[in-house]
Amino acid sequence: MRIDLHTHSNRSDGSDTPTELVRAAAAARLTVLGLTDHDTTVGWAEAADEAERSGIALVRGIEISTRNEGVGTHLLGYGVDPDDAALVAMLQRSIASREERIPKILDLLRAHEIADLELGEVAAKVTDGGTIGRPHVAQVLVDRQTCDDVPDAFRRFLGNDGPAYVARWTPEIEDAIAVVLAAGGVPVLAHPRGRRGHVSDERLERLAELGLVGVEVDHQEHGDDVRRGLRGIAQDLDLVITGSSDYHGEHKNGHELGCNTTDPGQFERLQASMRLQHPRARVHSTNPPHEEQ
Ligand code: AMP
Ligand code: MN
Ligand code: MN
Ligand code: MN
Repeated sequence: MRIDLHTHSNRSDGSDTPTELVRAAAAARLTVLGLTDHDTTVGWAEAADEAERSGIALVRGIEISTRNEGVGTHLLGYGVDPDDAALVAMLQRSIASREERIPKILDLLRAHEIADLELGEVAAKVTDGGTIGRPHVAQVLVDRQTCDDVPDAFRRFLGNDGPAYVARWTPEIEDAIAVVLAAGGVPVLAHPRGRRGHVSDERLERLAELGLVGVEVDHQEHGDDVRRGLRGIAQDLDLVITGSSDYHGEHKNGHELGCNTTDPGQFERLQASMRLQHPRARVHSTNPPHEEQ
């Protein structure tokens, strides 16, 4: 069993369509694939169709941008009911803030005489129904040959310390965990000690008390020491340990499908959590009972 629980399609900032992603997962000999686009579930239906054809188990997920102690922190939610009202409201607010931020970024790029980009060019990089983000601005900067590649655009202009950085609204992680749980989903902390931010042992303990189920330990942004430390605290807190690629297709190097995987025993625990949550999710998605004529 090869299990990769965190990947992106072009419904957020990956380059593959959901169909292409599932085919690439089959080619990479994955048996279980988690699709976790940023702040959206719109890729699920297409991925599910192709997963059935390819004989791959699809785990329906989402990667929600949140804030932990004021620092941007990503939360994975597996098996959420995509129609849950509180989840939809939270994501809509996030997406509105993503959309408001892009023209401000373009203003800063102009003010600093870095580039003069049209909003339409950036919007054209987003697949219908997908979420817009800084990577789409980065792609246009690469097209214009202002930047060598997407990481170069983040390093010089768009990153958190860059001249064109604009903050945006995201939910507090405590609230996002509560919303994921109430939507019948299973919350797992994504790359908690990656390039940006460091979720402390104390905060992990607090989040576990609030219902966090798992923590992504094996991730490309975690070195050996970080993985060892996180594995230890996850075991102490009885959290499920996941590993994944965070694949973005051509839009991120060094994150090939299956470069990190989740241990089947840990996946079994995650599935048990999802089964516990599932009956509630089903109630949301089935038609209400109707009276016999
Ligand atoms: P946004 O969601 O608009 O805040 O953009 C953040 C996304 O940009 C992350 O989810 C990453 O996929 C991508 N990203 C962040 N930093 C870099 C980087 N240095 N190089 C390439 N992609 C990055
Ligand atoms: Mn991304
Ligand atoms: Mn992330
Ligand atoms: Mn990701």
